[in-house]
Amino acid sequence: MGTQTVIDQPRFRAYGRRHLDRLPEINRLSVEQRVALKAVSSVLPFRVNDYVLRELIDWDDIPNDPIFQLTFPQAGMLERADLLRLEDMVVRGEEGESFQRLVHDIRLRMNPNPAGQKLLNVPRVDGERVLGCQHKYRETVLFFPVQGQTCHAYCTYCFRWPQFVGEKDLRFAARNTDDLVQYLSEHDEVTDVLITGGDPMVMSSAVLRRTIEPLLTPSLDHIRSIRIGTKSLSFWPYRFLTDSDADDLLLLFEDVRSRGRRLAFMAHFSHSRELETKAVTMAIRRIRGAGAVVRCQAPLIRHVNDKAEIWAEMWRRQVALGAVPYYQFVERDTGPKQYFQVPLARAFRIFNGAYSEVSGLARSVRGPSMSATPGKVLVDGVATIRGEKVFVLKMIQARDPEWVNQVFFAKFDSQAAWIDDLRPAFGEHQFFFDPYIRAMYEGRWQPEWAQTDDDSEELTA
Ligand SMILES: *Cc1c(COP(=O)(O)O)cnc(C)c1O
Ligand code: SF4
Repeated sequence: MGTQTVIDQPRFRAYGRRHLDRLPEINRLSVEQRVALKAVSSVLPFRVNDYVLRELIDWDDIPNDPIFQLTFPQAGMLERADLLRLEDMVVRGEEGESFQRLVHDIRLRMNPNPAGQKLLNVPRVDGERVLGCQHKYRETVLFFPVQGQTCHAYCTYCFRWPQFVGEKDLRFAARNTDDLVQYLSEHDEVTDVLITGGDPMVMSSAVLRRTIEPLLTPSLDHIRSIRIGTKSLSFWPYRFLTDSDADDLLLLFEDVRSRGRRLAFMAHFSHSRELETKAVTMAIRRIRGAGAVVRCQAPLIRHVNDKAEIWAEMWRRQVALGAVPYYQFVERDTGPKQYFQVPLARAFRIFNGAYSEVSGLARSVRGPSMSATPGKVLVDGVATIRGEKVFVLKMIQARDPEWVNQVFFAKFDSQAAWIDDLRPAFGEHQFFFDPYIRAMYEGRWQPEWAQTDDDSEELTA
């Protein structure tokens, strides 16, 4: 299953919507499927490569194959009326201005920037916003280099999709590290920099070195870990094997270690299939050999990985390859969510089903976790307390470090799929963080670590 062909001379080539007719694999789809694919891929990002097409997707199992669902936009991802209008225009070859206008409208209706990411978490230097940075949790700053704003293939469920489809005003990324370095030099509470994207591993090794090296200077020795958030091990493991600058990349990883810092490789794996090929096995071995720790995370996605066996098998393989299972996320409220969404109650059953099947070495994983405005909220259990059925929730990462590990309760709701769908249990009218988040939106509150001298106003909630 899965690994059918191995690419002889791997050379990275990405295929998008305009290459569809030239991909031999596409002939395995029916005419209806092809029209739908052309319609949906005009709205949602679509990008694959030879590794995904030939080593990951099982073409005998279309359309149910999980990697096909992961990378090929599906008819069910759009509202029926939108799909029909687009298909009609595709069939008639009318892809001009009115087609583009419709595409744009549909995208705007899909909540392109969830959870106030853009406005709330942008740090400042001398009062000016630092472009391409986010600082939400005290210890960790996210950095989005402009050269890393694409990926080796695209996940259909990606919440960063506005960046890929070229909605210009929705993009934000940093051109260089100058402002980041300045910010970090003023913030010694930060221990981790997470380089993310898109996928920073699409950058050349030289550009990645220019991004990372300034963070290794002795004056920033509070930066202990450089994290790289990437799906390259799933989508293009040859990045670490045969790409022309693969060796330079591993040298860079080694340099991070020899300068006394940790390289934390945050790998996105959606399905155990992605851990089965010879290429991924060898790539993980090389990355670990260069002194990096590989941690693994992914969202739980209907049609892709919504079965306990898939997660159990995935976590077992990760441990066997020397990688560390880290997070299972709940898909956030953006893009084609109705297609991918798994209700929290079901997510918890899947997580628990898998968790109970694996050894303690794989139980380093935490989930299902929602990355919400106050923090990462774990669905820790379902319980009946004094006759009321509740979700036991736990804030495992938080804007205010005082909230970390706080347990709280919501009324059980079998259909709720995100924290916004939940109501407090036991007759309470709000969650403990609600007044703070409200005050934050009104500019009246910041956690203590994020306060600057001129906004140290206290919250009176
Ligand atoms: C998850 C996350 C981090 C990292 O959190 P850890 O629990 O330390 O892995 C940092 N910033 C944001 C915005 C995140 O969502
Ligand atoms: S690899 Fe990450 S950033 Fe790229 S499409 Fe997938 S989820 Fe989005």
